[in-house]
Amino acid sequence: MIKFDNVSKMYGDKAAVDQISFEVQEGEFFVLIGPSGCGKTTTLKMINRLIPLTSGYIYFKEQPISSYKLDEMRWNIGYVLQQIALFPHMTVRDNIAQVPLMKKWKTGTIDDQVNRLLDMVGLPHAQFRDRYPSELSGGQQQRIGVVRALAADPPVILMDEPFSALDPISREKLQDDLLRLQSEINKTIIFVTHDINEAFKLGDRICLMNQGRIEQIGTPREFVESPKSKFVTSFIGKTDIERLARDCVTKLPFDGRYPTVDAETPVSALYSLLAEHEQLNVTGADYLGAVTRPSVFEVLSKGGTV
Ligand code: ADP
Ligand code: MG
Repeated sequence: MIKFDNVSKMYGDKAAVDQISFEVQEGEFFVLIGPSGCGKTTTLKMINRLIPLTSGYIYFKEQPISSYKLDEMRWNIGYVLQQIALFPHMTVRDNIAQVPLMKKWKTGTIDDQVNRLLDMVGLPHAQFRDRYPSELSGGQQQRIGVVRALAADPPVILMDEPFSALDPISREKLQDDLLRLQSEINKTIIFVTHDINEAFKLGDRICLMNQGRIEQIGTPREFVESPKSKFVTSFIGKTDIERLARDCVTKLPFDGRYPTVDAETPVSALYSLLAEHEQLNVTGADYLGAVTRPSVFEVLSKGGTV
């Protein structure tokens, strides 16, 4: 659906994005993650040509993006910003209707679409469609931002840290909504975050960037089970809440062939042992169970504590 072939973006002699190649499949939830300044936003904005690339090719549906008209690109690719800017003097309905209006949809079709999408993200249309942005909470505004990006039914949606300004509860709710939406309407989503928990929760595949380059691409499970570098290991260890060995045990008998670790050891300190051993015995006052790669993955992919 979207393919990067050796793409770079230079600012002067500094590469913001440095020869990256990857392909996002149709219907995939693809997460770009990495530390601040690693090139996530630049990568995203090159897709809908908000930023021109310096070298390489980006393909959208097998055609180089340069072969599309700009309008055509923008209509086919929804975009959700971190700080969503709704038009303050327009109602929710009119804010959402902008792209469908440009595409000259009929009023009845637009209204049906607005109503359907509002209901889908938990904002009953009868209650919300005629409100102004100032009459909405931050979480509700962000939801309208997501709906607006979906309004004209684009096959692809780009999302740049859309939930990072929200409180944890709204954020979790929106993540759940987005997962449900994704399974219902089967969009291709490219989602930027710097939060590893969010990435594990949402991503079919994750692309971890570092200084403009790709460190690793894979499923959440592959990241936990076979991190390719020290950078990857330390990045996936950076969870909001540090998990301890005791949080991740599974009921397996003690096995003397494997190392034994203390229940209070942070899981991030166990990745290198886990890369070499199937399981680790976990002991507190008594034997508690074993930590395995799947048991760690189970806990991390839930994004919270068990
Ligand atoms: P991220 O979204 O991962 O935080 P960005 O893609 O915004 O990172 O930026 C990648 C790098 O490119 C950073 O080092 C940033 O300072 C640099 N950069 C971004 N935009 C510009 C610009 N307009 N001029 C010069 N450097 C830029
Ligand atoms: Mg950014």
